[in-house]
Amino acid sequence: MNETKTVQEIHTDLTNRIYSVRQLVDSYLGRIEDKKDLNIIRDVCTDIDEQVVSAQKRFDEGTATLLTGIPVLIKDNILIKNQKVGAASKILEGYTATYNATVIQKLLNAGAVLLGRTNMDEFAMGSSTENSAYGVTKNPIDQTRVPGGSSGGSAAAIAAHFAPLSLGTDTGGSIRQPAAFCGVVGLKPTYGAVSRYGAISMGSSLDQIGPFGKTVHDVEVLFNTISGADAHDATTINESNRVCTASDKKIGIPYSFIKRDGVNPEVLTNFQKTVDILTDAGYEIVDISMPYIHYALSVYYILMPAEVSSNLARFDGIRYGLSVPGKTSADTFAKSRATGFGPEVRRRILLGTYILSHGYYDAYYNKANLVREKIKKEYAEAFEKVSVILTPTAPTTAFKIGEKTKDPLEMYVADIFTVPANIAGVPAISIPSGFDSDGLPFGLQFTAPHFCEQRLFDIGKEFENLIQ
Ligand code: GLN
Repeated sequence: MNETKTVQEIHTDLTNRIYSVRQLVDSYLGRIEDKKDLNIIRDVCTDIDEQVVSAQKRFDEGTATLLTGIPVLIKDNILIKNQKVGAASKILEGYTATYNATVIQKLLNAGAVLLGRTNMDEFAMGSSTENSAYGVTKNPIDQTRVPGGSSGGSAAAIAAHFAPLSLGTDTGGSIRQPAAFCGVVGLKPTYGAVSRYGAISMGSSLDQIGPFGKTVHDVEVLFNTISGADAHDATTINESNRVCTASDKKIGIPYSFIKRDGVNPEVLTNFQKTVDILTDAGYEIVDISMPYIHYALSVYYILMPAEVSSNLARFDGIRYGLSVPGKTSADTFAKSRATGFGPEVRRRILLGTYILSHGYYDAYYNKANLVREKIKKEYAEAFEKVSVILTPTAPTTAFKIGEKTKDPLEMYVADIFTVPANIAGVPAISIPSGFDSDGLPFGLQFTAPHFCEQRLFDIGKEFENLIQ
């Protein structure tokens, strides 16, 4: 079975009985077993056989959709009913999900086969998947390197051909940055385009669930399946209200933001090459000035920990997973949290509670929210002049395992180009754009106005053809 086939090609094969859903799923499961040492998969789902039978039945009865029988892997912070879920944290040890996330229900309705859960940074905090209680995931392209994070498992799974599709979450870059590091496509949808019901919250005003795939079209298919309004998530927006105006061939580049310290020269050379390719294809490049996005990372590291500290308060050693008994309930609470949370999660909870404390709330939290409004406005103004904004996805290619674990600030900079889209709530996609001198993939990031995912898919598919 050809492991590089697209969703459409697999669908055609299944329809024409070239192979059965069972044979397809077994070939992916075989690869997962053979490459266990990459530490990409946490657990394989316990009900795969039932899923396979019902998917095959839909082909036999003629009710199959494009996703019927297609294997999909799920990040370990999205709930699948009756399957374990851990957000790669010790504090959720032994916990089983009691309901399906909306995105999972939609996948099941389409007949997709959920294969299992992928490794990640604990509670989605990180850029390398090194903050996982299950141990680091290795990048399939070079096993001495990280796959990026926090959805490193879901990105590596596509690169290692463990499934044609996977889901991740993106709060500050956790879909796009690992997509770039693993040479696959990853989309962070518009805030409100995909329901967050059943996703374990990190920063609720920033989080979005989104798709990974080998091609832009595969990602588009998965996005169209999981998106839409949901009564369980009041921040989701109805199809009819998701308007996007017609676009032209103008691409904005915030050059002063990109050409900065810490951006690898090879990344810039590759970026310029892709700009030349797009110019030759008839796109007009506009140098845009966006002074406020320079502050996006600082704003993120105020707002995100504040939201983290309140979201993670629910893990008290009583309601979910791990419980370390103490003399009083407050003691149980403290002991369970101290034992269950890893160092990065503890750091962010401390930061967040500090930021939200009485004396500092105005100085930090409120100030960061004001700058967030400026950043949103800056995007709106930029999109009056151009259709999409182009940047590299990350300042470097995949770094070595252990290279950045000693200095959290150095790790945070990995998200410099991806965080602004979360702050503004706009959609952004990372698409592979060639390789560096070590054979490591580069990622190119296109950003569009709210609910203009289609614009990203259209230009993304054109770009894929141009660089082939
Ligand atoms: N790497 C960023 C962080 O550590 C983004 C994480 C994410 O998008 N979930 O917060």
